[in-house]
Amino acid sequence: MLSEIRHLVFDLDGTIYRGKTLFPYTLASLELLESCGITYTYLTNNSSISAKDYVQKIRRLGLRCQKENLYTSSLATIDFLRNNYPNVSSIYLLGTESLKTEFIEAGYHVFSDEESDEPDAVAVAFDTTLTYAKLCKTAWWVKQGKPYLATHPDIVCPTDLPTILVDCGAVCDCIASVTNRRPDRVCGKPDRLMIDGIVQKYGLKPNEIGMVGDRLYTDIEMARRAGIIGILVLSGEATQNDLEKIVQKPDFVFDTIFDLAREIKQTKRSLS
Ligand SMILES: [Mg+2]
Repeated sequence: MLSEIRHLVFDLDGTIYRGKTLFPYTLASLELLESCGITYTYLTNNSSISAKDYVQKIRRLGLRCQKENLYTSSLATIDFLRNNYPNVSSIYLLGTESLKTEFIEAGYHVFSDEESDEPDAVAVAFDTTLTYAKLCKTAWWVKQGKPYLATHPDIVCPTDLPTILVDCGAVCDCIASVTNRRPDRVCGKPDRLMIDGIVQKYGLKPNEIGMVGDRLYTDIEMARRAGIIGILVLSGEATQNDLEKIVQKPDFVFDTIFDLAREIKQTKRSLS
């Protein structure tokens, strides 16, 4: 029931904006939702920068965003480490400087390339500054049996540029081929971890939170795994044709988030 929703979780690319351009209806949609008393979180698997830097990126697009409005796969990884590996205090991180800062601010010692001491755990992210030496060292610590986490499973990061942005999942595939080991947990979408974190933070029941996104196999799959409301928008990747082919349908389908916001406004109005 749309009328019961109190919080929405938004995927970004294909849902809120495309590439570097905000959809023309995004601001109006968010204002409509706010007028219904609905709070929201932006969700991203992109772990190439810290949440702090991501907030700036979202603001540059023209959206209002505070740190509490954003949950990233790297924050989910840090939360997972805290909750499940309380004895881990040092990390070998395959990630950018921005991400390294995030782990340090969360209280972890992050190894520099020069250090040779044993880390307690290994984490692999979307490292756009990846070097051969870092990749080899990561594989080494994985091979030594350290707890091994990946921020998210994406193989490539979408781009309009004439290149392929090799993402976290592909790097994990590479590590698997030399160590015969997959990550102990892959924290981003479609794993339910990120939703669980938000549900806990806001004290929500499953019928009070909806996941809104443009991809069936990540956004909608995550909603299914977490047992929350799955809302597909057709403003990005998934098409009507894709939708007809799948067995597990999303709970709701809208062309855009504006259609969703308008529908929520109407159902809330008709109830009041
Ligand atoms: Mg998307």
